[in-house]
Amino acid sequence: MAILITGGAGYIGSHTAVELLNSGYEIIVIDNFYNSSKTALERVKSITNKNFKFYEGDILDKDILNCIFSENKIDSVIHFAGLKAVGESSKIPLKYYENNVTGTITLCKVMAEHNCKKLVFSSSATVYGGNNVSPLKEEMPVGATTNPYGTSKYMIELILTDLQKSDSDFGICLLRYFNPIGAHESGLIGEDPNGIPNNLMPRITQTAVGKFPYLTVFGTDYDTHDGTGVRDYIHVVDLAKGHIKAVLKLQNTAGLFTYNLGTGTGYSVYDLVKAFEKASGLTIPCKVEKRRAGDIAVCYSDPSKAEKELNWKAEKTLDDMCADSYRWQKNNPNGYGK
Ligand code: NAD
Ligand code: UDP
Repeated sequence: MAILITGGAGYIGSHTAVELLNSGYEIIVIDNFYNSSKTALERVKSITNKNFKFYEGDILDKDILNCIFSENKIDSVIHFAGLKAVGESSKIPLKYYENNVTGTITLCKVMAEHNCKKLVFSSSATVYGGNNVSPLKEEMPVGATTNPYGTSKYMIELILTDLQKSDSDFGICLLRYFNPIGAHESGLIGEDPNGIPNNLMPRITQTAVGKFPYLTVFGTDYDTHDGTGVRDYIHVVDLAKGHIKAVLKLQNTAGLFTYNLGTGTGYSVYDLVKAFEKASGLTIPCKVEKRRAGDIAVCYSDPSKAEKELNWKAEKTLDDMCADSYRWQKNNPNGYGK
C-alpha cells in the first residue's frame, strides 16, 4: 500500500518524501512543477537510494488522478499541492482559489470514488488570522484571514470538515504549519522560491550568497523584545516527520483532527539574523523599513496537542535550522536552477 504525495517535488513535499522513504514507506508523487523542478525528485532518490513512481500532472485533472488511483493501491494521501505566495494571491485570487480549493475538491472526489479515505492536509497558521493571541491553540477561532491564500486554506479546512461529517469513514488531519525553514542536512534539497523571495529565511540566505546587498527588516516598532516581528520557525525535517505521525494516526482512526506543527517558541527577525550569522560566520547587513502591510507582531504555536496525540515534537534547534538553510543555499546558490 502506497502513500500518494501531491506536490511532492516542492519544499515540504520533497523533505517528507525523504522521511517516508527512509522509514520504509512506498510513495507515489504527483506534481506539475509549477513551483518546483524534477531535480528535487532526483535528489530525493539520491539521498534515500530508493526509487518511487512519479506522475507529472495537475491535481485539477481528474483523469490523471483516476489513472493514479487505478494503477496503484493507495492507502493515504498527503496533500501539499497548492499555491502559496501571499502577495501573488491578492493579484490572481481566482487562480489561487481554483488551484487550492478546486484542486482539493477534485482530489477528494477521486479519493472517495476509489475508496481511499485517509488524507493529511497542509494547512497553515495563517488560518488563525490576526485576532488571536499567541500561543495559538487549535480550538481558537479561525477564519479572520487577510489574503486569498489564507482564505483558500480556511475554505479547505471547512470543506474537509464537512466532507468528514458527511462520510464518517474519512480520516482527515489538518496540519497547521507555522514557519518552516531549514533544509535536509545533505544540502541537496531545500527551499527554492520563484523570483524574489518574500519570506525571511530565503531572503537572509540569498543575502548571504550575495544576491541582495542587505536584508530589509520590516518594522522595529512592534511590541516585542527587540521591536521586530516574532514567528515560530520550525525545521522542515521536523515538519516532515509530523506527517508520518499524522499518517500513522489515521491508520486506526477515522475522524477530523487538527494539529499545530510548530516548536512553541517565538523568535524575532533579529534573533534569526543573529543565529544565522553565528551558523554561517557571515554578517548580514540589515536596513530597517516600515512595517509590511498585513503583518502581525507575534505568531507562535502551542504544539502540545500534537505531542500528546501524535507523539510528535520538534527536535531541531534554531542553530540547526540556520546551519542547514545556509548549507543548502551555499551549495545551490541558484536553487535547482529551474
Ligand atoms: P512548494 O510550492 O514548494 O510546493 C508545492 C508543490 O505543489 C510544488 O512542487 C508545486 O509545483 C506543486 N503544485 C502546485 N499546484 C499544483 C497542482 N495544481 N497540481 C500538481 N502540483 C501542484 O510549497 P511548500 O512550501 O512545499 O508548501 C507545501 C504546502 O504547504 C502548500 O499547500 C502550502 O500552502 C502549505 N504551507 C506552506 C508553508 C510554508 O511556509 N512553506 C506554510 C504553511 C502551509
Ligand atoms: N521579514 C522581514 N524582512 C523580509 C521578510 C520578512 O523583516 O525580507 C519579517 C516579517 O515582517 C515577519 C517575519 O520576518 O515579521 C517573518 O516573515 P515571513 O514572511 O517569513 O513569514 P510570515 O510573516 O508569513 O509568518
